[in-house]
Amino acid sequence: PPSILWFRRDLRLRDHPALLAACGAGSALPLFVLDPRLLEADTPRTRRLLASVAALSADTRGALVVRRGDPAELVPRLAGEVGAQQVHVSRETTPYGRRRDERVAEALRADGRELVATGTPYAVGPGRVVNQSGTPYKVFTPFSRAWHQHGRPAPAERPARIPWFRGEVRSDDLPETPRVEAGERAALERWAAFLESGLTAYGKERDRPDLDSTSRMSAALKYGEIHPRTMLADIAARSSGRSPGADTYVTELIWREFYADVLWHHPESAWHDLRPELAKLPYDDGPETDRLVDAWREGRTGYPIVDAGMRQLLAEGWMHNRLRMITASFLTKDLHVWWPVGARHFLDHLVDGDIASNNHGWQWVAGTGTDASPYFRVFNPVTQGKKFDPAGDYVRRWVPELRHLTGSEVHEPWKHPNGYDSDYARPVVDHDEERRETLARYESARR
Ligand code: FAD
Repeated sequence: PPSILWFRRDLRLRDHPALLAACGAGSALPLFVLDPRLLEADTPRTRRLLASVAALSADTRGALVVRRGDPAELVPRLAGEVGAQQVHVSRETTPYGRRRDERVAEALRADGRELVATGTPYAVGPGRVVNQSGTPYKVFTPFSRAWHQHGRPAPAERPARIPWFRGEVRSDDLPETPRVEAGERAALERWAAFLESGLTAYGKERDRPDLDSTSRMSAALKYGEIHPRTMLADIAARSSGRSPGADTYVTELIWREFYADVLWHHPESAWHDLRPELAKLPYDDGPETDRLVDAWREGRTGYPIVDAGMRQLLAEGWMHNRLRMITASFLTKDLHVWWPVGARHFLDHLVDGDIASNNHGWQWVAGTGTDASPYFRVFNPVTQGKKFDPAGDYVRRWVPELRHLTGSEVHEPWKHPNGYDSDYARPVVDHDEERRETLARYESARR
């Protein structure tokens, strides 16, 4: 009988330790479960996931079996149907994934079968980087230093021939998805192009949303179309791994590992403040705040750089990192709204929406995370715009109402006699006033 290889956030065939484990003793039946819990909402993220599963199905030449329902029922049932003793997975490290896998493992055990986890979606598995006394790091820089020292295996090759199981097994249909770039081949192509033409300048240009200079690998990493270990090895193989661009890029990948590690140790941090110090901080809510939050969601705050970012999110399901920080700061510090409201909106719209990177990215901006920007740091949307979109091109791309303004004028339409020739919104709040309000709330919460 075959063993089962249950794919989740590892939708690739190359550098896949669980795949190698599954093929070790014979044929492997590739499975994807359409878990209603994860697919109930039709979001850009779920559409991207389904497109990736469709690509995987093609890459297995149709061997992939799809089943819809609760994995704790389906996986043991399928194992029973084909007589599989082992179900192989990449270890899941998110709170939901861990709970689900415990339920599945228990149900399999009850039938005398086994859930075997090999590898994780990270270069160093969450929970592995600890200090000398065995406790996890709370702060990025020492984590990063220890991460560099932690060994990791070399990427595994894709087997020349994968012995997929081809017996008669019923498969549910995948829901139709629009054509979006997805799948292992597309991820490898995008990565090769970035290595060739983007990595060198990355260190200098990564903060510039107008330049399109980042790798846009986040969704491919999210779904495991490529493993970060592969990316790190490719970087090391070029320029002996060292250049300002390469070093900065590796640091960004380590942020992804750090946030997964924090979530591993503190599953509750997905939706709750990691640091209790700000528990007394008052947040705004009510109808007037709802109106402001709607303006933020729809890109109508009257602050051009904020609106450009929020509109890019709605249009493309992706936002540049600098914009994620600026818009998150605006919601939490200018509108005084608790960060989970924004984190939820991002998850509903991002193709790369990831509970560890997103929710801890929000906590970083809000000042409530382990390793956070201090609460009193408030991004100024005008100076941020002028600094990181110096010619105003990014704003003009997303806010057509301001295309008649030239250069960095777009960041302050209120300063120009014809700034409001179009029907662009006036600022919904006064940034300087709200900044003072934020600092006052912070001071009183600390007391
Ligand atoms: P690049 O600049 O090319 O970086 C390469 C890779 O490094 C990224 O693909 C990503 O995997 C990782 N990375 C880069 N920056 C970070 C970071 N600050 N934290 C964690 N990993 C990082 N990233 C997500 O993948 N999913 C999210 O849901 C997400 N939400 C965020 C929310 C907020 C409020 C903030 C401030 C950041 C968030 N990030 C998230 C991190 C970062 O913004 C994105 O990873 C990045 O913009 C993706 O574009 P890229 O692939 O071109 O990045």
